[in-house]
Amino acid sequence: MKILISADMEGATGVTWPADVLPGTPQWERCRSMFTSDVNAAVLGFFDGGADEVLVNEAHWTMRNLLLEQLDERAEMLTAGTSPSP
Ligand SMILES: [Zn+2]
Repeated sequence: MKILISADMEGATGVTWPADVLPGTPQWERCRSMFTSDVNAAVLGFFDGGADEVLVNEAHWTMRNLLLEQLDERAEMLTAGTSPSP
């Protein structure tokens, strides 16, 4: 089973104010790790549920929000200006 997650930042844990999703603000920086944790929870759930591959599409603004170094290493990711990573 192949899974595609399209992850947008609005609605992520901790996001309560427009500045929370505005790249470059301190509030956005604070919310990036919670956004990444939310995506990791989904990735974990899909793998636990039998997924063979999980592809995460960054869907917010410039597509440069998730913290790559904290993303579940089993997931592949589409982000701005790149193709799927191994
Ligand atoms: Zn968004």
